[in-house]
Amino acid sequence: MRGFGTTIFAEMTALAAETGAINLGQGFPDTSGPAAMLDTAVEAIRSGVNQYPPGPGVPELRAAVAAQRLRRHGLTYDPAAEVFVTVGATEGIAASVLALAGPGDEVIVFEPYYDSYAATIALSGAVRRPVTLRPEQGRFTFDPDELRAAVNPRTRLILVNSPHNPTGTVFTRAELEAIAALCREHDLIAVTDEVYEYLTFDDAAHIPLATLDGMRERTVTVSSAGKTFSVTGWKTGWVTAPAAHIRAVQTVKQFLTFAVSAPYQLAAAYALEHEGAWVEELRKSLQAKRDRLIVGLEAAGFTTYRPQGTYFVQADIRPLGLADGMDLARALPGKAGVVAVPSQVFYDHPQAGAHFVRFAFCKKDEVIDEAVERLAAVSLGGGPQTVV
Ligand code: PMP
Ligand code: GLN
Repeated sequence: MRGFGTTIFAEMTALAAETGAINLGQGFPDTSGPAAMLDTAVEAIRSGVNQYPPGPGVPELRAAVAAQRLRRHGLTYDPAAEVFVTVGATEGIAASVLALAGPGDEVIVFEPYYDSYAATIALSGAVRRPVTLRPEQGRFTFDPDELRAAVNPRTRLILVNSPHNPTGTVFTRAELEAIAALCREHDLIAVTDEVYEYLTFDDAAHIPLATLDGMRERTVTVSSAGKTFSVTGWKTGWVTAPAAHIRAVQTVKQFLTFAVSAPYQLAAAYALEHEGAWVEELRKSLQAKRDRLIVGLEAAGFTTYRPQGTYFVQADIRPLGLADGMDLARALPGKAGVVAVPSQVFYDHPQAGAHFVRFAFCKKDEVIDEAVERLAAVSLGGGPQTVV
């Protein structure tokens, strides 16, 4: 694990704490989830739900996840054999990759990718094979030929994150079809990271890869309560997959953490069953926050890509006369009192993302307003330069 160092989120949040800057770096909301869900967790603790729960998860949460997949997407999973609870999506992804890939295997990832993917693939001993998402007509997408060319006889898994962090892309049915066709053709397993499954904007719709023809049997779907219910600190996630894959995931997970905090599982089960309306309000409010942040970033001189989902906006810094997002992210707290994340850390080919920084908009309106006012008030670069 030499070379992985400290995560960018920890680094940038520490920088925000040190400097007192507004933290639009790490993606976490500055408000909590639905009150009745919080009460359910408190009540569970007070009523004695404080010992080891079953390793695969409490029956209430496994049933609620199965019901959610059926209600929302028409997917049927047996809660006893095909649903499995993990310490956030992070552990769900790690246990899936460790279970299903190893030395000699290759794992395809779309870059920029969420930082834990690279580390987890390294832990598994497999090799990551990145396929780059590039801006095209205002959104980030991949070239299907490039994706096809990344597949070879060693390819075992493809990791798919939609809605996508950090670009905000929500894969279309056509994009998912291109992925599914390769999975079917080459007998690949897809691991999908769907933590932003509810957080889509305008007319973008989240389509789980498992709903495509022939994909339920070869897809391991990962999600969590953190983003959907604004409780990123609860680290309560789940995996849905065919029973054989779940058994493999369970074999790994039982020795990583054995089980997941019991009270939060009950609260997440409650929320999945009863807080749909609250989540819809959250989605609408995030869409408005997205627009608010974009207007402010554009006024401050950035070029932005309007995300179709997630918490994040990718901002191009070249119109400010700047070229390196890492330099800007390190200088920004001191210069402007704002923290952002340099997107290049999510790439194997940093030059593809050198000129992007990521801003999070899962914050109170007044916090977003203050941040963009600060950004507009200082001179961040050397003036406009030709965008290459
Ligand atoms: N995947 C993506 C794409 C994320 O942005 C995050 C951060 N929340 C995670 C996984 C981790 O989710 P969790 O906190 O549930 O482990
Ligand atoms: N998912 C959050 C982000 O992308 C942060 C997660 C973390 O800190 N590891 O900003």
